[in-house]
Amino acid sequence: MSASLKSELGGLKLDAERYIALLGKLIGEAESVQNNPAQGLVPREDNISQHVLDTLEPFSKEKGGPLTVERVSFTEGRGNVVITYPGTTPASVAFVGSHMDVVPANPETWERDPFSLSVEGDKLYGRGATDCLGHVAMLTEMMRAIAIARPSLSRTVTVIFIANEENGMVTGIGVDRLMESGKMDHIRSGPVIWVDCADSQPCVGTAGSVTWHLKAVGKLFHSGLPHKGINALELANAAIAELQDRFYLEFPSSADEERYRFSTSSTMKPTQASPAARPTPLRRRALRAACVLEPSARPLGTTRRRR
Ligand SMILES: [Zn+2]
Repeated sequence: MSASLKSELGGLKLDAERYIALLGKLIGEAESVQNNPAQGLVPREDNISQHVLDTLEPFSKEKGGPLTVERVSFTEGRGNVVITYPGTTPASVAFVGSHMDVVPANPETWERDPFSLSVEGDKLYGRGATDCLGHVAMLTEMMRAIAIARPSLSRTVTVIFIANEENGMVTGIGVDRLMESGKMDHIRSGPVIWVDCADSQPCVGTAGSVTWHLKAVGKLFHSGLPHKGINALELANAAIAELQDRFYLEFPSSADEERYRFSTSSTMKPTQASPAARPTPLRRRALRAACVLEPSARPLGTTRRRR
C-alpha cells in the first residue's frame, strides 16, 4: 500500500455506534440470506445490499458525492455490489470477499436468537457477525468515512461485496460471474485484500482450488520378474513428491507470517486428490484424511530399485 494511502486513511476511525446499528440491520436480515439450496434455503442477498446502498447513497456520484456504487446482478434478488472511490492514477487497492450470504443457523442449537444482533459488553452475537456480515458493515462504514473525508489518493479504492459465497451448488451468481463480466478488471492494478474470515488470523494467499487429475501408468509384468515391470505406485509417488517440493519452492512462506502471527502458513498446500470426493466443491477443498494403498512386496534381487 502506498505511503500516501496509509497516511491519508490512517486517521479514519470506525464509528462504533454506526457500525453496530448497521450490523444490527444486516443480522436482522440473516434468516433470508441463509445459503443451502439442498435444504431449500436460497439467499436473497439484495436484502443485505439494500442497507449498504441506503447507507452510501448520499455519498454517490448521483448525489454529488465521490462514490460510485453499483449493484451488479446476474440472478434476480441476488446482486453483488461494487463500490469505488476514485484515485488520481490508474493504480488500485481493493477489498474483496466479504459476502452477503451466511451458512444456515438452527435457532434450537443457539443460546441467543441467531437472527437478531445481541450486544453484550464488547461481544457481538448473531449469524454472520464474523462471517461475514460484520465485514460488510465495517467496509460500508469505511467507504462512508472516506467519502466524507474526501482525501486525495493516488489509488482508486474499491470494495466488492459478493453474493453466493457459502455454497457452490449453484454457480454464475457471485464472484465467478463478476470476474467474467469484467466488472473486477480494474482491481488488477494493485493489491487485493480478501476480507472474509471466521476465526483465523490474517494470511498471505487464501483458500482457492486448482483441481487436477493424475494417472500414473506403469508397465505390467509377471510378478516373478518384477524388475521387468514398472510400478505405477512408485511413479505416482515420485510425481506427488515433486509437486509437493515445487509448492514449497514456488510459494514459500511469507516473511510477514511472524509479524501478523498467522495461524496458517501462507504457502500453498496440496489438498484433495481423490475423484471419489468430487461431487461438491466444499469436499473438494478438504484435506485428505485417508489414503488407501494396496501394495505387496517382492525381492528384486540386485536391481533393487529402477530409476
Ligand atoms: Zn465467509
